[in-house]
Amino acid sequence: MLIKKAEAPLQTLFVGFQDQDNLGLRYLMATAGAAGHHTDIETFSDDPAVLIRKVMADKPDFIGFSLIFQFMTAKFAVVIDALRQAGVTAHVALGGHYPSFDPKEVLSVVNGADSVIRFEGEATLLDLLAHLGRGTAWQETEGLMARLDDGAIRENRLRKQIMRLDDIPWPDRGDIAYERSERPTAAILGSRGCPWNCDFCSIRPFYEAQDGALRRLRSPGDVVAEMRHLYHDRGVALFLFQDDDFLATGARARNWAGDVADLIADSDIGGKVAWKMSCRSDELRPDIIRRLITLSGRRCRM
Ligand code: SF4
Repeated sequence: MLIKKAEAPLQTLFVGFQDQDNLGLRYLMATAGAAGHHTDIETFSDDPAVLIRKVMADKPDFIGFSLIFQFMTAKFAVVIDALRQAGVTAHVALGGHYPSFDPKEVLSVVNGADSVIRFEGEATLLDLLAHLGRGTAWQETEGLMARLDDGAIRENRLRKQIMRLDDIPWPDRGDIAYERSERPTAAILGSRGCPWNCDFCSIRPFYEAQDGALRRLRSPGDVVAEMRHLYHDRGVALFLFQDDDFLATGARARNWAGDVADLIADSDIGGKVAWKMSCRSDELRPDIIRRLITLSGRRCRM
């Protein structure tokens, strides 16, 4: 993914839950920031008053809402309606798993929203912001479901996945007060997607939709560089890997996870950090457990 400097930098605001850092929003913020847009983040609240105050003061051109839970759709609709009633004219977009799969339903409930950014959002966001800045036809943005002026919904084709995850800037964590925490803990991602196909899970359909790889890996060097930055510059010593399945699938993934562990062990944070990851129990093997334990150098809890 090539990030070009924006011709017309915009004021952008991202709104969502912020448990465990909300890396989805923070990757979007970092990408928009790398293009020169000003970015900010606000925690979602059922009470629209705080958000209205912030939006009236900062006057963002774009507000992106992260809608993670389907059952929260009506609450997001109330908050976005309140923004509109307060006179907010910013472009309002929604993103996340549920809006990606059911964008028409979401736009029918959330009347104040202009668009849904579907599936992996970074590249679509950059194109959308470029259109909004130039005043060109944002409704034609690839990867977007758009509400047109006459109320009709326009469904654009989905864009291809970003091929190299290392090309995406690290999440923007500037406002997270790790330093004030008793035990500074950061969420981190080493990969995106999972090739397994568990009946109850939306991960595979989410990544399958864009016709790309079912699981993409960051390079171990990039993962460890981000961890070293968080350790040295932000005091983080506990890492929560948010990967859908850290060991999916087979020898390729185990080798990758082992390479991450070896790189950490050989670096200046080896033995100083602890970590947590999730995987299917049938992927565990004694050799990979042994290699991963070197990440913390202490113990392994399962
Ligand atoms: S292994 Fe986990 S992430 Fe992968 S499909 Fe199954 S439940 Fe989803």
